[in-house]
Amino acid sequence: MTRWRVTLTALSFMALPALADVPDPLPQIAIIIDDLGYGLAAGERALELPGPVSFAVLPATPRGKALAEKAYASGKEVLLHLPLQSTTPQEIEEPGGLLLDMTRGQFAAMFAENFNSVPYAIGVNNHRGSLLTRHPGHMAWLMEEIQLRGGLFFVDSYTTHESVALKVAHEAGVPAVKRDVFLDPDSAPGTLEREFARLKKLARQNGFAVGIGHPFPDTLSMLEYELPKLLEDGFELVSISKYVSQKSEMLTRTQEVEKAE
Ligand SMILES: [Zn+2]
Repeated sequence: MTRWRVTLTALSFMALPALADVPDPLPQIAIIIDDLGYGLAAGERALELPGPVSFAVLPATPRGKALAEKAYASGKEVLLHLPLQSTTPQEIEEPGGLLLDMTRGQFAAMFAENFNSVPYAIGVNNHRGSLLTRHPGHMAWLMEEIQLRGGLFFVDSYTTHESVALKVAHEAGVPAVKRDVFLDPDSAPGTLEREFARLKKLARQNGFAVGIGHPFPDTLSMLEYELPKLLEDGFELVSISKYVSQKSEMLTRTQEVEKAE
């Protein structure tokens, strides 16, 4: 009996490749281009970016539906770029905003209208939101709406350090990640290069990093130049859905290891 067990163990051990032969997975980077829906030319140029870049489309915008359809047709992933109230009042009221003083019913109706105006959306990330993402009650409503449309995930654009969106998403069981880097937070010379380098550094450190950019000419030029070199630089560019599922899997594994210890 003992001998038999030893033989089996030896066999299964031999069948496994030596640990040293398994290459480390490359650090993963996901890129989302936000705010699609107004300029057609800028949107179309963004859609030409190489690789599995993902696109967040604003609801109820003149070109949003057409760009979402075009993204889907070219095999790119589409997110609903959901306007959430920010702390700074807007000069021009944007369509589709979810606001602090809405009732639960108004919130649900506006979410539905937004979601229906962006075809092929497989996830949601927030546009603005520095006020609303601090409010656990409203974030719980948001996660309920997301869960109602089974299979969606959430990306916290993280427009304030006080955001509780990621925590509420995890509590609700919604697959979710948080943005690491805004590629173009200002138009100063050197910002794009510095932030892209920071994105790569975070990916190297943590195994994962997600960057958000906007369809500005300089941002697109930088990405057109940098993305084709990523693999050579030792990174894997992944779609946002793959990123979310792999990162969630890694978090679950880490939690299981912590529990076991
Ligand atoms: Zn935005």
